[in-house]
Amino acid sequence: MSLQALRGHDLKPPQRPDPDTPASPFKIAPTKPSRAALRFPVNSQTKAFYRRFFPGTSTAEWNDWRWQMRSRIRNGAELSRIFTLSPDERDAVARHEGSLPVGITPYYASLMGLDDPSEPLRRTHVMTGDEYLFTPGEADDPLGEDHDSPVPGIVHRYPDRVLFLTTGTCSTYCRYCTRARVVGNPGGEYQFAMKQWDAALAYIEYHTEIRDVLLSGGDPFTIGDEKLDWLLTRLRAIKHVEFLRIGTKMPIVLPQRITKDFAKMLKKHHPLFISLHVTHPKELTAEMREATGRLADAGIPLGSQTVLLKNINDDPAVMVPLMQGLLTCRVKPYYLYACDPIRGSAHFRGDVAKGLEIIKALRGHTTGYATPIFAIDAPGGGGKIQIAPDNIVGRDGDKLLLKNFEGKTYSYPDPGGTLGNKS
Ligand code: SF4
Repeated sequence: MSLQALRGHDLKPPQRPDPDTPASPFKIAPTKPSRAALRFPVNSQTKAFYRRFFPGTSTAEWNDWRWQMRSRIRNGAELSRIFTLSPDERDAVARHEGSLPVGITPYYASLMGLDDPSEPLRRTHVMTGDEYLFTPGEADDPLGEDHDSPVPGIVHRYPDRVLFLTTGTCSTYCRYCTRARVVGNPGGEYQFAMKQWDAALAYIEYHTEIRDVLLSGGDPFTIGDEKLDWLLTRLRAIKHVEFLRIGTKMPIVLPQRITKDFAKMLKKHHPLFISLHVTHPKELTAEMREATGRLADAGIPLGSQTVLLKNINDDPAVMVPLMQGLLTCRVKPYYLYACDPIRGSAHFRGDVAKGLEIIKALRGHTTGYATPIFAIDAPGGGGKIQIAPDNIVGRDGDKLLLKNFEGKTYSYPDPGGTLGNKS
């Protein structure tokens, strides 16, 4: 089937949902969580932070993910209350309009440098004047997702899988976000009303070649338990959908989101995989370990996705401990991406060779489980292209010549083969 057809230009009217699937979850009133349900580790740096900046807050409140969402730092005044802003940061925040606003959970702010604008996590979330500099090759939608969107909220690029943009809300807003054009924009493109979900579900139901649905956004974990349960139930009821994936940053920036009840709910929807957006070893706290531990205990395979960011994590001295540390959090390093060229992202995009340097520093020097795939998501909709060190150095008759991680050459018997022949 042609990609054109897959995009749904031949979309039939939505099928009726299976009568066995729940009609609507939204009559269920959220209940107040018990104190026991809000038990969560609090690391010492975070404890000192919240006592200083949120003095009237109880530990139970601090550990309530809804409190964290309500208390996010959302504007210049709130930033200034906590951070010593540089004049550049202050101006950049004041100039901002539209999507990708300021958004930082109090928990995530507690990990940042309050007086140092060059601190890595702060650089990823507090805007600077560089965001307003546009350079050649940048675009609002560098991956051409809108072009591959047959119905709002669905991106159908690869034959057997779709990306389902379930919400435009995130708990924190990363300044290099690929979907900067649509996230955090009240009244913006992605309203994510039930009507939109229904159209997306109808598309997936109709396209029987779809085996794999990746829920993203925005961050699907910002959706309430009952509503997300309903959506996952609807997706699992579609017979040709073999498994689900969720992309989220919340276990990293708001780990308290992973309540025991939430993990129990997710467990009902196996096979379910989760990809975590991770940036820096500073994020590997006791809280994050608790969150990933709960998800892993629910039987969910966890993988990480990391964006290579200039002077933030594009260094083996940062990335090797991050990848090794993720394994101790029960997360398999999955992808390392070159930063997508969204508008105003030049200050985040360094030399692609740095990514290869990191892969070389991992491959062979530490367990293979710690080595992610390094890839560029090709601008214009070409999909992910792996970038790997070239370890084939040539051919000697029936032997393929290979270079190992120490740069030594070895041969492998390959009679009749042609790989390694110089053209
Ligand atoms: S959490 Fe993901 S979707 Fe949200 S701003 Fe960050 S990168 Fe973008």
